[in-house]
Amino acid sequence: MTNAIQAIRGMNDLLPETLEIWQWLENIASDTLSLYGYREIRFPLIEKTELFARSIGQATDIVEKEMYTFEDRNGDSLTLRPEGTASCVRAGIEHGLLHNQSQRFWYAGPMFRHERPQKGRYRQFHQIGVETFGMAGPDIDAELIMLTSRLWQAIGLTGDVTLELNTLGTVESRQAHRAVLVDYFNTYRSELDEDSLRRLEKNPLRIFDSKNPRVQEIVQDAPTLMDYLDEISRSHFDGLKAYLDSAGVQYTINPRLVRGLDYYTHTVFEWTTNKLGAQNAICAGGRFDGLVEQLGGKATPAAGFAIGLERLIELLLLAGVPEPNSAPHVYMVLLGDNAQGKGMIMAERLRNSDVRVQCHCGGGSMKSQMKKADISGARVALILGEDEISKNIVGIKFLREDKTQEFVSEADLVSVLTEMFAQ
Ligand code: ATP
Ligand code: MG
Repeated sequence: MTNAIQAIRGMNDLLPETLEIWQWLENIASDTLSLYGYREIRFPLIEKTELFARSIGQATDIVEKEMYTFEDRNGDSLTLRPEGTASCVRAGIEHGLLHNQSQRFWYAGPMFRHERPQKGRYRQFHQIGVETFGMAGPDIDAELIMLTSRLWQAIGLTGDVTLELNTLGTVESRQAHRAVLVDYFNTYRSELDEDSLRRLEKNPLRIFDSKNPRVQEIVQDAPTLMDYLDEISRSHFDGLKAYLDSAGVQYTINPRLVRGLDYYTHTVFEWTTNKLGAQNAICAGGRFDGLVEQLGGKATPAAGFAIGLERLIELLLLAGVPEPNSAPHVYMVLLGDNAQGKGMIMAERLRNSDVRVQCHCGGGSMKSQMKKADISGARVALILGEDEISKNIVGIKFLREDKTQEFVSEADLVSVLTEMFAQ
């Protein structure tokens, strides 16, 4: 026997049983997004490496060490998408969807980052992302946050997540802050790790995002951007807070929240939970007014967020939300060739009336078929053999209730079962 091949570390199979809760969540998310007028967009899983290098930023974890980059057969450098925003902007520019327009898009699918696999951190993971274009004010920032808040409510998670909010201001206010920040970190130079020293040169604010405990201590006393905001930055942030206050959305201001990508301006936010250990962020986003122009389009304000689905599902399982049940209503036990032919047509009639039917295929004894009926999770087994066929009836065995077997006439079958599964 040869060795069986296994999946790549950090890339997970999602088996049918697990997918029930994924599909339930994805359906609620897409319903919620339509309530606000967002439309789905899909783009390739692979893009030119340059797209991510130019947008995400050289001093970020993603570009420095997490991208899955390879040369294709033509020698072009390509990268598996580590996130969706860059592709969404690229597609929007390419198809003329952004300039002088208001757009609300969403996307969902796998992202790829070469990180150390651990709970809540994978090399292929899934996001639902939202990007808006053409709206510059704090109103749309507030809408994005209200939408996420409604989604948590819809899936029963309200008490388990909290919102952290910050502003990265305008480029001008960041420049004013940068000089003081560099001076501050320089006084701790000998204690900074290699990553932080590199960020000190390229983008010192990114040191705030370090996961190194000693660096985090140093960050605690660093001067924050809050004290260097210009008038535009301050009024945008105040506007956002006012919208959230009137909508009753609670938040805490975290002046050290910066986000892992360089392209953010003004609003940044993160929904976190204290139930998942170190991997505590389930949704992150903000405003990125400079990105469209940076990627070759006409300057267009933009804001969005992305939800990490693996972490959200983990949280849902911990919170004990009701697990969706998509098991068949009915398992058809078919005894003999005649019954197989007749039963499969009967099943089609039931499905026409939205009864979920799994038909036994492959023959076998009553006992072995009843075993499969039980495993299927169906509530009843319908039994069809020579005897039933000769009398034009069908047997109904209850698999989850303490009820004796019944018989119904073939003519009444659809109405009896649709009534049984109406609720
Ligand atoms: P972290 O600080 O945890 O590395 P990040 O800032 O890199 O997160 P984003 O790029 O903002 O994450 O992605 C948005 C969301 O996607 C995160 O809040 C998280 O829920 C999820 N996410 C990011 N990276 C991973 C991963 N490797 N595995 C699983 N989920 C992830
Ligand atoms: Mg990361």
